Amino acid sequence: MSAKIIDGKIIAADLRARVATEAARIRRDHGVTPGLAAVLVGADPASQVYVRSKVKQTEAAGMASSEYLLPATASQAELLAVVEKLNHDPLVHGILVQLPLPGGLDPQGIVAAIDPAKDVDGLSPVNAGRLANGLSALTPCTPLGCIILAKTVHASLEGMNAVIIGRSNLVGRPLVQLLLNENATVTIAHSRTRDLAPVCARADLVLAAVGKPEMVKASWIKPGATVIDVGINRIALADGKTRLVGDVAYSEALEVAGAITPVPGGVGQMTVACLLANTLRAACAIHKLPAPAI
Ligand code: NDP
Repeated sequence: MSAKIIDGKIIAADLRARVATEAARIRRDHGVTPGLAAVLVGADPASQVYVRSKVKQTEAAGMASSEYLLPATASQAELLAVVEKLNHDPLVHGILVQLPLPGGLDPQGIVAAIDPAKDVDGLSPVNAGRLANGLSALTPCTPLGCIILAKTVHASLEGMNAVIIGRSNLVGRPLVQLLLNENATVTIAHSRTRDLAPVCARADLVLAAVGKPEMVKASWIKPGATVIDVGINRIALADGKTRLVGDVAYSEALEVAGAITPVPGGVGQMTVACLLANTLRAACAIHKLPAPAI
């Protein structure tokens, strides 16, 4: 049996289209154009690609976007001044500071300075705390995307045994809260977990966010389980080229899982779509409009 492939490309395109429809509606009915400001410090090529893609997709959804490029030598105070300016800019509803920041800058301090109402990455202590308390919050985009993908397979995640591998603030920890909100039974594994394979093999839903190429083997997966692979790892091939792979050994897992996300073309596609959705949500909340129907 071969697993159902969860097509992040199609699901993300569908979400972007719904965001664009709602953005057009609130512009028409309320004169509000949701705006996203992206801040990039330094010239890391991968970060430049991510920011460009976010700007392009924001504009394609009919929303406003602005870019703030600072040199790698920018100080904490200079970056904080940019964040403060954007906090007070009425045309900006979402602020994204692209991580990682160059060495010497304190990302926690920067993220904490973003107005929580505009924190569309959902990484500020206020939004993380609200999420942990089961309150409404702007939620980190990648975990949000994972939940949307899982729910294309299971209308409800209630009562499912979910195993998350990885406990980062960016992915694993917010995933715990989102899965609890869905009434799943959640286990979170990490580098100190003993006997990870049998822990994983109990899961109806496996979410791998480790950063280790193809670490999760088919033998770790319960037959029929749903597998959401967050990992993005570039590996070198014998011919000198490189290839992107996830944290799950995809081709063998395909034979055991019930449904699985590919890499690329799975979770990665959802991250930017969820950022647009969060920007729209933030714009509605700031202007005291009803939450968008997306
Ligand atoms: P981090 O490096 O911040 O966290 C990795 C986690 O994996 C840690 O909690 C670590 O445990 C755990 N871990 C490491 N080795 C093992 C092991 N052998 N067994 C079990 N757990 C282990 O990574 P991120 O969460 O930021 O990212 C994870 C992956 O997801 C990366 O490949 C990244 O590129 C990708 N990613 C993809 C995104 C997308 O849009 N698709 C967005 C964000 C990330 P410990 O805490 O004990 O160190």
